[in-house]
Amino acid sequence: MKRKVESKSASVPAGPPPAGLPPARDAERIFSGLGVSAGVAIGPAHVRETGAMEVPEYPIPADKVEAERTRFADAAAHARKQVKKLKLKAAALPEAAAEEIGYLLDAHLQMLTNSRLIRGVERRILDQRQNAEAAVQAEISDIARGFADMDDLYIAARVHDIRDVGARLVRNLTKAPYQAYSRLPEGSVIIAEELTPAETALMDPRHIAGFGTVLGGAEGHTAIMARSLGLPAVLGVAGLIAGVRSGDTVVVDGTAGQIIVNPSSATLAEYQHRREMLHREQRQLARLRRLPAVTRDGTRITLQGNIELAHELKAVLETGVEGIGLLRTEFMFMNRDDLPGEDEQYHALKPLVEGMGGRPVTVRTLDIGGEKLASSLGGRLTDGVNPALGLRAIRLSLKKPRMLETQIAAMLRAGAHGPLRILLPMVSTVGEVHQVRKCLKKVARRLARRGVAIADPLPPLGVMIEVPSAALAADALAHVTDFFAIGTNDLTMYTLAIDRGDEQVAHLYNPLHPAVLRLIQFTTEAASRARIPLSLCGEMAGDPRYSALLLGLGIRDLSMAAASLPRVKQRIRSLDLVAATRRARLIMDQSDAGRIATLLDDFNALA
Ligand code: PEP
Ligand code: MG
Repeated sequence: MKRKVESKSASVPAGPPPAGLPPARDAERIFSGLGVSAGVAIGPAHVRETGAMEVPEYPIPADKVEAERTRFADAAAHARKQVKKLKLKAAALPEAAAEEIGYLLDAHLQMLTNSRLIRGVERRILDQRQNAEAAVQAEISDIARGFADMDDLYIAARVHDIRDVGARLVRNLTKAPYQAYSRLPEGSVIIAEELTPAETALMDPRHIAGFGTVLGGAEGHTAIMARSLGLPAVLGVAGLIAGVRSGDTVVVDGTAGQIIVNPSSATLAEYQHRREMLHREQRQLARLRRLPAVTRDGTRITLQGNIELAHELKAVLETGVEGIGLLRTEFMFMNRDDLPGEDEQYHALKPLVEGMGGRPVTVRTLDIGGEKLASSLGGRLTDGVNPALGLRAIRLSLKKPRMLETQIAAMLRAGAHGPLRILLPMVSTVGEVHQVRKCLKKVARRLARRGVAIADPLPPLGVMIEVPSAALAADALAHVTDFFAIGTNDLTMYTLAIDRGDEQVAHLYNPLHPAVLRLIQFTTEAASRARIPLSLCGEMAGDPRYSALLLGLGIRDLSMAAASLPRVKQRIRSLDLVAATRRARLIMDQSDAGRIATLLDDFNALA
């Protein structure tokens, strides 16, 4: 979802400017957007220019020039090796795709071999003593500028390739993509036109305080990643890039959905106080860790954690969860150009399974496509006409059986170390489940022949209920699967035909729409009739506003980001389930989402 954005200023001056004059550049300015991750961040802004890479720039002393040239030569050699490896992998694709990608990669190889680009970078290091990353960036810009006046589509595509090659060189030089985040002043606030989930995953919350972007919806994966990392964030802020300069002090109010640039001293003091109050509240909520999630009238609710990134395990464990209800495996595929192999995936999963100490871990097969494009080879192949309705999630896995078999093999092996369940994203037909079960058995036989330890018995195989067809066919799906996990993020998107990652329609995205609620209810009833376990792991699970309704609809297992869990537990412990069930029934009789919201909010205000 890339669009050009008009950078009209949407700033609202905090106080009236002198008559007829625009607010001074360094006056306090307030920008509004979607508060997607609660909390307050205060820090110096780092404005990421659109399309620009985070490239460190520094001069090279005369006696280090040779070493810098060698560093660049190594990065270029490594890039050639990567591209050759990609070519080998591409050869396994269907003929037409293999041919096309083959040509593209050949062109990349040429650009990495004694080309104008390579020679130009070497010259810059030698003559201008630029560091290699900055030299690559400058040379790419020069080449692109040279092509800019040629009105030719073929040339335009070549410029794109040159930029791709340049990005690869910079990644190799910095060893990790966007490692430059770590070179920013501590506590920086990132301001960008758009951040992908993969870029967000690289932000270390100990170093980055929060972020704001022009594009992005509240339920897209960048938002989910922000909540996972506990980074205050505001997305969908019109005019933001034009209104902030790197170095400006900014406040990100992720709760109210505001970004305040150059706050006055009174505003700054107020937000510093608010930030301290929030920290205090978090410390108090942490005390709930050892208390059970039980309603006032004694019904036990299972609370599990969602995991986006492996290092979240610690935070999840600290909340006292009963399991991992959703392990999104996309993190293994992000920020890289190749696909992770069986061993690598196994070694990523094993510590998570072991770390949970006997509590179940629900591992979802790869869910890329749609708004979740990994930059790996797989991601590049999924960019269809309408990605959200295209080769996404289980459809992609079934189209690339070797990739699926590799994932399943890693899961089966990790399942030898503790209880593991396999979850399939975006299932829409019973046939898809049959195909995966066949694959599961085949991989298990192969591993057994090799004498490799695997889960015994085979792990339960469940499906996400996140497209309307799955919810409406939940009865049939319940007969062929071992458990359900309701994904309200996609279920809302696909039911209402509203892109969850698009800030322009974010105001229409509403899980309280009666159509969505009926699908949740229908699914819950189907699981109960078939006596299979059901959990809900979409973002609704982590919002205490919805707890009464979800419990009232019969859901007894919720999975959410670690940061959301204490508040949800607190809400559950204050709930009377009989009253919540009565309110849910009343809500299900309504046809208007606004009325439903009022009924729910009134109930929440009372109990
Ligand atoms: C969902 O769609 O609700 C879900 C949990 O999956 P994801 O957000 O990863 O698409
Ligand atoms: Mg989903």
